[in-house]
Amino acid sequence: MEVFRTKEALKAYLTPLRAAGKKIGIVPTMGALHNGHISLVNLAKAHADVIICSIFVNPTQFTDPKDLEKYPRPIEHDLAMLNDAGCDGVFMPDVEEMYPSGANESWHIDLGEAELLLEGEFRKGHYQGVTQIVKKLFDAVEPDIAMFGQKDFQQVLMIKAMVAHLKLPVSIITCPIIREEDGLAMSSRNIHLTVADRKNALVLSKSLQYVIDNFDSFSLEELEEKAKSFYENIDGVELDYFTITNANTLKSAKSKDESSLVALVAAKVGTTRLIDNMIIK
Ligand code: AMP
Repeated sequence: MEVFRTKEALKAYLTPLRAAGKKIGIVPTMGALHNGHISLVNLAKAHADVIICSIFVNPTQFTDPKDLEKYPRPIEHDLAMLNDAGCDGVFMPDVEEMYPSGANESWHIDLGEAELLLEGEFRKGHYQGVTQIVKKLFDAVEPDIAMFGQKDFQQVLMIKAMVAHLKLPVSIITCPIIREEDGLAMSSRNIHLTVADRKNALVLSKSLQYVIDNFDSFSLEELEEKAKSFYENIDGVELDYFTITNANTLKSAKSKDESSLVALVAAKVGTTRLIDNMIIK
């Protein structure tokens, strides 16, 4: 497995492969890898010949500087996992390589109304930062396909909005959420959970699963209300939102007959903010 720290070195590696007709896939990550990330690498192999995983903790998508500072960076462990997964190359630039004129470089793109909903409401400017770095990664790799996890449901919609807006020649592939055995969605942030937090964190997947299991028995309002009641009286858990929305617009679902529905949740468990979702249909 090759490791690249500059766009130039990455380009020198990829150009002849592309010329030889190889399909290139990218798996963008912020590192602190777990089996969710590795599932993206494995799925990428089914769609492309050369897989590049990027590891870059992107400063422009963090709204809380403390969150950025404490983001885990176990790089040796990450490289070993990617090597074992059969990843071809890792792109690990530093901040200057991606933002030569500083991380306050201007960027704004119209991502539509959904940008400001849900995560966009709690993390102002987050999706501008996400799309800014993903565009830079796409420019560096020029991938045929790019893998993103359903775990970050809204992020996939925003990336697709950017790709459509800029007419980028890349296919976005959404990968299912990989969970721990007890249902907790894998996340790099889970390592911050204390033993008590780890138990409490199960409320996210349990409340989502409740909605899936009881979808036919209650109205949308009742389902949301019942799901929210899971969060009452749990010490150290603070619900940001639990909502059932149209899966394309992220607007609150008006009817069970909408063609696609998703339940999404965000909650602070201890000091760690977690998100999760389940597609209803
Ligand atoms: P991150 O490093 O958290 O930015 O995540 C990198 C990519 O991995 C994103 O596309 C995520 O949606 C995806 N991802 C994160 N957690 C999971 C998971 N539990 N299952 C599947 N994909 C995931």
